[in-house]
Amino acid sequence: MCIFCEIIKGNIPSKKVYEDDNVLAILDISQITKGHTLVLPKKHFDNFLDLDDEYASHVFLAAKKITKMIDKAYKPLGFNIINNCNEIAGQSVMHYHLHIIPRYEKDELVMNHNDNSNKFDLDEIALKIRG
Ligand code: 5GP
Ligand code: ZN
Repeated sequence: MCIFCEIIKGNIPSKKVYEDDNVLAILDISQITKGHTLVLPKKHFDNFLDLDDEYASHVFLAAKKITKMIDKAYKPLGFNIINNCNEIAGQSVMHYHLHIIPRYEKDELVMNHNDNSNKFDLDEIALKIRG
C-alpha cells in the first residue's frame, strides 16, 4: 500500500492546499516550518528517477504556483524546494513528491554540507557523467 496514493484517493485524510487534474498538494504532517507542503503527482512514481516527463512538468508547474501561494500567505524570507531520492537521501515515502519548505528568520531548519571538492578530480567526474 502507498500512503500517498491512499491520500490522493481520499482514503486517508490530508490538509489540501492545491489540486488540479494531475497534482495534489498537501501540508506535510510533520511541518518542518509553517506551510511546509508536499506536491504529489496523482500518478504513482517511486522516485525522481522513475518520474516521467509529463508528470515532471505537471509537478514543477504546480510547485511554482504553490510556492507563490505560500509566499503571498506568509511572506517567508525564502524557500527550500527539495526532493529526496531513495532511502539513503532521506526518502521515506516511495511515491515521488516535492517538498516546499518556507524559510523564516531563526527557523529551526539547518542544512549543512561540506566542500569535498579537494577530494575529487572535477574534469574526470564531468567526463564520466557526460559519458
Ligand atoms: P520524504 O522523507 O519521503 O522526503 O518525505 C515524506 C514526508 O511525508 C515526510 O516529511 C512526512 O512527514 C510526510 N508524511 C508521511 N506520512 C504522511 C501522511 O500520512 N500525511 C501527510 N500529510 N504527510 C505525511
Ligand atoms: Zn503512490
